[in-house]
Amino acid sequence: MVAGLDEKLEPIYRDVLRRNPGETEFHQAVHEVLETLGPVLVKYPEFAEHKIIQRICEPERQIIFRVPWQDDQGHTHINRAFRVEFNSALGPYKGGMRFHPSVYLGIIKFLGFEQIFKNALTGLPIGGGKGGSDFDPKGRSDAEIMRFCQSLMTEMYRHIGEYTDVPAGDIGVGQREIGYLFGQYKRITNRYESGVLTGKGLNWGGSRARTEATGYGAVFFLDEMLKVRGDSLEGKTGVVSGSGNVAIYAIEKIHSLGGKVIACSDSDGVIVDKNGLDLDLIKQIKEVERRRISVYADERKDSTYLPDGNIWTVPCQIALPCATQNELNGKDATILVQQGCIAVAEGANMPTTPEGIHVFQEAGIAYGPGKAANAGGVATSALEMQQNASRDSWTFEHTEARLQQIMVNIHRNCYETSAEFGQPGNYVKGANVTGFLKVAHAMVALGLI
Ligand code: NDP
Repeated sequence: MVAGLDEKLEPIYRDVLRRNPGETEFHQAVHEVLETLGPVLVKYPEFAEHKIIQRICEPERQIIFRVPWQDDQGHTHINRAFRVEFNSALGPYKGGMRFHPSVYLGIIKFLGFEQIFKNALTGLPIGGGKGGSDFDPKGRSDAEIMRFCQSLMTEMYRHIGEYTDVPAGDIGVGQREIGYLFGQYKRITNRYESGVLTGKGLNWGGSRARTEATGYGAVFFLDEMLKVRGDSLEGKTGVVSGSGNVAIYAIEKIHSLGGKVIACSDSDGVIVDKNGLDLDLIKQIKEVERRRISVYADERKDSTYLPDGNIWTVPCQIALPCATQNELNGKDATILVQQGCIAVAEGANMPTTPEGIHVFQEAGIAYGPGKAANAGGVATSALEMQQNASRDSWTFEHTEARLQQIMVNIHRNCYETSAEFGQPGNYVKGANVTGFLKVAHAMVALGLI
């Protein structure tokens, strides 16, 4: 018996375990979704008849390839890259590329699987996919990053396209990398096909507010959860893990809505600044100089740097995990709740372990899972595709307003679905079921493909 699964879903999950050995993150992501689908199969028996869940758990296509490249000293390196095209029932595969040494097939599949439901939640016409490489960009020169990206695209270009599969950024992949990838795609194909990648620079096809979108969107979602409880961000103290793209713009939006973020981190340690983090300084360190977050403490004498510190032990009312998967466990969740945390919104993908989620739900605090809370990034990528298709360029205000409206809608849909299935405010259930229903209905309509 697998804990949490009803009898129709258990054999499906066992099959996923058997067919995908060793891919623990993928197993975790599938379990989290299946756990919430029991009542859906009772209401819609046709999904079982069409084997929709078995089909959703099997990627449509998985591409694994070698990426050879040379460093500045002329030494040859070989990395492995992946593109998992998971589900295209709602539109072209869409999802980022991650460059991190921990990347293997199980991580890309967990991310791709989550992306299916997240993309469905945005209400925009995008399917789910994800990719990446075990390449470690840390400490590499611009020239090395460029050669790696060019080598990767020399294979990946055959598999992507504006109507097929549209990659974007993720951990280790920002505008610089998207630029090198786009340049090589354009060179090989002899096509200025802007819609093939998102996260582009503003003067070569990018969208305003895309850089800010995931962090801003997570805070809009958090704000909506607080409103349901008659509360707001005004005067709240927060902590945000990570100090990359998502973390930086989550901090920016919390500050603009009247909250104060007092801690952030990277994989080496935690910065605590009781006066509120100086975001201009963080942007300078991380976006311009590409240095470690510890440098912050050299510049702000009132702040403290905790090497190997645990950010979840810093007392706060709101917490946003914005670094990586499984960064917040049951013990961390217990400490957060005990110290007065009332709301958690996930900027990262699957950052809270199943034990941690259980603690938040038992405590009755507002908990927004990544699938819903961080969907603003991919939603704005879809808006970038719209602008590319119409050769248009929207203002920042217009794009941000669209983003905010999308996040308000996602929140409302998740809340209403959670209420319909008897657990109002359970956003895990709300997000999984809302996203699943959209994809499942489309798959039935498209026939057995
Ligand atoms: P970045 O590469 O810009 O930043 C990642 C941050 O997380 C860095 O501070 C990094 O620290 C830290 N981090 C990464 N891996 C680890 C690890 N194994 N242990 C501890 N810290 C780690 O990535 P993003 O901000 O783009 O992505 C952050 C999260 O948000 C990811 O889970 C991503 O999937 C998710 N996400 C991103 C979206 C986007 O639009 N960018 C969209 C939706 C979700 P260090 O530098 O030390 O590695």
